Amino acid sequence: MAENVKSEEKVVVKKFKKPSKKKVCAFCVAGEKTIDFKDVAKIKKYITEKGKILPRRQTGVCAYHQRELCTAIKRARNIALLPYVGD
Ligand SMILES: [Zn+2]
Repeated sequence: MAENVKSEEKVVVKKFKKPSKKKVCAFCVAGEKTIDFKDVAKIKKYITEKGKILPRRQTGVCAYHQRELCTAIKRARNIALLPYVGD
């Protein structure tokens, strides 16, 4: 039995995006180890208008500082500096 196995090459269409510069963690650049939860102006950049914490892939914050940021945001919410739910 002659089996003709033909592997069809699938053409992978890659969408060409403009190669964006890799984001660096703003907190690492500033050399900050901890993030102050009272610093609302700084934290506000990392939440949406609905009050959600922005993901790392959008902000470019490193894993360590994302964790720090997360706690800072949660603390700020707790003492009503930031909203739990925005409008
Ligand atoms: Zn960092």
